[in-house]
Amino acid sequence: MDHPTDHVFGMSADELAAWCERRGFEAYRAKQFMAHVVERGVDDPAAWHNLPPALRKAAADAMHIRTGDTVEHQIATDGTQKLLIEWGDPSAPASALPVLGQQGDPTRQTECVMIPSLDPGSSRKTACISSQVGCPVGCRFCASGLSGLDGNLSAGRIVEQVWQLERLPGVGRISNVVFMGMGEPLSNFNAVTDAIRTLTRPRPFGLGIGGRKITVSTVGLPKYINRLAAELDVPVTLALSLHATSDELRRELIPWSEYTTIRELLDACSAWFKKTGREITLEYTLLGGTNDGTTDAKELVRLSRTLRANVNLIRYNEVEGLPYRRPADAAVHGFQAVLREAGINCHIRASRGRDIAAACGQLRHEHEAPSG
Ligand code: SF4
Repeated sequence: MDHPTDHVFGMSADELAAWCERRGFEAYRAKQFMAHVVERGVDDPAAWHNLPPALRKAAADAMHIRTGDTVEHQIATDGTQKLLIEWGDPSAPASALPVLGQQGDPTRQTECVMIPSLDPGSSRKTACISSQVGCPVGCRFCASGLSGLDGNLSAGRIVEQVWQLERLPGVGRISNVVFMGMGEPLSNFNAVTDAIRTLTRPRPFGLGIGGRKITVSTVGLPKYINRLAAELDVPVTLALSLHATSDELRRELIPWSEYTTIRELLDACSAWFKKTGREITLEYTLLGGTNDGTTDAKELVRLSRTLRANVNLIRYNEVEGLPYRRPADAAVHGFQAVLREAGINCHIRASRGRDIAAACGQLRHEHEAPSG
């Protein structure tokens, strides 16, 4: 994959200034060109008119800015927009990007989504981004996990997704970021934590997004949850994808959980709360007839009470070729009622973009295996 320092979003302000100085330009030039990139969305150095021609040429030759090309752009009736991005060859010279290595190659594609608030008085725009190409976890109900992991995204490319979403017509500044696209963020730990630092850095050297508005969603690697609490100097929210209340069912749904128990995960979450003071979100995808019964809800109450957690219920979006079903509305509301009656803070996540390929990995999957 690409060398992280090649990408503008993989470098700190100091590194960008040093990049200028190594080439004989003043350090302040870095802020000037990052203003073009971040504030005006101009990724072609030839258009940076207030910068010396030699710097513009150096940037065109060596600086990775937009390294992924849009293969598909979908807009839902609720304003949700989804991009399928194909990443150019990371070893290609900057001047050759984002020209694609092999047109239409799903092993180079990831998805990202912009979800606007439904509240007319709110300017919240959430970017749901990917951390890896494909995913090593292989959840049985997820399109992203179907063909395994094809590679890690660099920090620069993780941030670039947010930047690309900001440049879509009518979008502008993204306020919230969730790592809920393709990939298991904690298995690409260094790139994800570097990306979070860039996302939270003030503009134009970063995207100026508050740490508390960033959610890292993981299926749970206790060692890495501990590491995130110890090493990340940004107050992000942690979401644990639980999806089952017994180890047996969880291992059936999430092959990666074979070596971890729910107890170990919840202990790591409690340690996270003690260290950071921030409550955990438990994500629970309701699969019709699989994990949406009253017994499951009562067991989730018992588990939630062992730590400081909110619960997010997610209605499953069906994926062609997979056997899992969307839960009935009555089951979803009944499940929530059991948790609420027990005093657990529990929300049903609104389904967004249902008239486009809404499930994670679905768009890429459709490109891999077109139906019809
Ligand atoms: Fe990976 Fe998340 Fe899909 Fe599981 S649900 S396979 S962790 S992308």
